[in-house]
Amino acid sequence: MAKPKVAFYWCASCGGCEETVVDLNEDILKVVEAVDIVFWPVALDFKRKDIEALQNGEIAVSFINGAVRTGEQEEMVKLLRQKSGLVVAFGSCAHLGGIPGLGNFWTRDAIFQRVYKEVPTVDNPDGVIPQEKTVTDVGELTLPEFYDTVKTLAQTIPVDYYLPGCPPPPDLIMKAVTAILKGELPEKGAVLAPDKALCDTCPRAESKPEKLSIAEIKRPWQIKIDPEKCFLDQGLICLGPATRSGCGETCIRANMPCRGCFGPVDRVVDQGAKALSMIASILGLEGEDKMTEEEVKKLVDGLADPAGTFYRFSLASSLLRRKRME
Ligand code: SF4
Ligand code: SF4
Repeated sequence: MAKPKVAFYWCASCGGCEETVVDLNEDILKVVEAVDIVFWPVALDFKRKDIEALQNGEIAVSFINGAVRTGEQEEMVKLLRQKSGLVVAFGSCAHLGGIPGLGNFWTRDAIFQRVYKEVPTVDNPDGVIPQEKTVTDVGELTLPEFYDTVKTLAQTIPVDYYLPGCPPPPDLIMKAVTAILKGELPEKGAVLAPDKALCDTCPRAESKPEKLSIAEIKRPWQIKIDPEKCFLDQGLICLGPATRSGCGETCIRANMPCRGCFGPVDRVVDQGAKALSMIASILGLEGEDKMTEEEVKKLVDGLADPAGTFYRFSLASSLLRRKRME
């Protein structure tokens, strides 16, 4: 019997999601035994025309990582959608926009200006920036359009399932692959991870404060972090209350606060807004420990890069989506 066909593709991403497939270690042999990989640009030399030659729906499942930033990425994911029975948004960038989605705090012009003209390591006296079309002696060269706004995969094509994480951990990937192969998948649109907040599974949950009575918000490098105590109780921003569990509390166990890469639980629409409201709700704003307005202001001023902290992985999928354009 023919094995189900599987494709992997990457859009705007760092390559970490591709690496996590390799991190399956010997389990990758089980995957290769069970499926026929028909496309995986990072690892195997298949071409776009190989995908175009397939029947619509012939690929059982495409795992697509990365956000959608360029015209080429949009074309490729639309082609894969057409050829695939299932599409899984693989990792934070495809799921929520991820780190590339932070580009939505700027415009394309501002990004090109900075990257190609201003950074100290750039040597570009003629101020050349990438062009979609360039005529040369050997003909016309083209580059894909670089969009002003980064989109999530689901803002570009219909997505069947989401594997969260930066990158998704190997055990969740194996569970998802097994469920797909056995046809034991949940309802379409589901995130393939527990629908519980990270605090519910966190080994430090017992020390999580009801009310935050810190005088200052600190950054991890500024203090010696207690490895047992809730980060919030140490004045460090931890997005555990606004983040889905399922990662194995990787960062917490490495003594670093959660940054929110798993995105929110199902009932939360906007992870950044949820994180902000979580911080606001645990500040000592009433009762005996009531903070003065000045104390609250000082505390909030100590928060470096609030937008980048609360929307680090989810800006493109948030209610804000991007900074307002001129
Ligand atoms: S806030 Fe962070 S450290 Fe505290 S219980 Fe939640 S996940 Fe754990
Ligand atoms: S602790 Fe938070 S940032 Fe770290 S892997 Fe888990 S969800 Fe992602």
